[in-house]
Amino acid sequence: MPSVVVRDVSLNFGSVEVLKSLNLEVGRGEFLVLLGPSGCGKSTLLNCIAGLLDVSQGQIFINERNVTWDEPKDRGIGMVFQSYALYPQMTVEGNLSFGLKNARLPKDEIATRIARAAEILQIEPLLKRKPLALSGGQRQRVAIGRALVRDVDVFLFDEPLSNLDAKLRSELRVEIKRLHQKLENTMIYVTHDQIEAMTLADRIAVMRGGIIQQLDTPQAIYSRPVNRFVAGFIGSPG
Ligand code: ADP
Ligand code: MG
Repeated sequence: MPSVVVRDVSLNFGSVEVLKSLNLEVGRGEFLVLLGPSGCGKSTLLNCIAGLLDVSQGQIFINERNVTWDEPKDRGIGMVFQSYALYPQMTVEGNLSFGLKNARLPKDEIATRIARAAEILQIEPLLKRKPLALSGGQRQRVAIGRALVRDVDVFLFDEPLSNLDAKLRSELRVEIKRLHQKLENTMIYVTHDQIEAMTLADRIAVMRGGIIQQLDTPQAIYSRPVNRFVAGFIGSPG
C-alpha cells in the first residue's frame, strides 16, 4: 500500500504550468528523494502534498485518504524547511511543544514526546535556550524535532541542509538517515544535491520542468539513466 499518492497533479501559477499532470507513489516507510535543478517544481510539489498550495488539477492521497482539499494540519504530515522558521522569542522546548499545546495534548504526553525527540536528535542540553543562541545545525535539529514530536506518518523535507556548511551537512545527513531507520516512517526529501540524493534515497525521482523524468533506485538511475539530462544531472557517463 502506498503512503502518498500524487495522481495526475497539475499546478499553474497564472499561465505558467509548473507541475504537469504529475504522478507519484511513495511506499510506506520509503525514503523518496525529489532531485532536480532549481526551478523545476520540487518545492511546489512538496507544498501541494503538504496542503500549503492548492492543486489546479488532480488529487493527493495520504494513507489511502483523499486529502486534496484538507487543511495542512489534518494531513498527518510534518514539514521541515530550508530556513528553520523557529519562533525566536520561545525556548527550544517552547518551539517543540507549541503545536502540541494547540492540539490540547496532555502535559505528560507532551513531556514524553519532547524528551524522546530531544534524545533522538541530541538536543537535550539546548532545551532551555532560544533559537538565536543556537548554531545553524542546532536550529535545524530543532526544526526536525518539531516535526518529530507531532508523531506524523509522513515527513516532508525541503532542502533542509542547504543553509549549512559542508561538514554539518554531512553530519546531519547521517542523522536524518538514522532517524529514518529508527522511525521507519515515510520521508519525501527535496534536494538539488546529487550526493544527498544518492546517499539518502531508497528511490530517487529526477524532476525537470514540472515532470518526473525517471523514478528508480540510486543505482539504477546511475547505471541506466533514461536520457542525457538525467545522466548529466546524476553525474554518470551516460
Ligand atoms: P524548485 O523548488 O524546484 O526550485 P519551485 O517549485 O520553487 O522550484 O518553482 C517552480 C517554478 O514555479 C519556478 O519557475 C518558480 O519561479 C515558479 N514559482 C514558484 N512559486 C511561485 C509563485 N508563488 N508564483 C509564481 N511562480 C512561482
Ligand atoms: Mg525549492
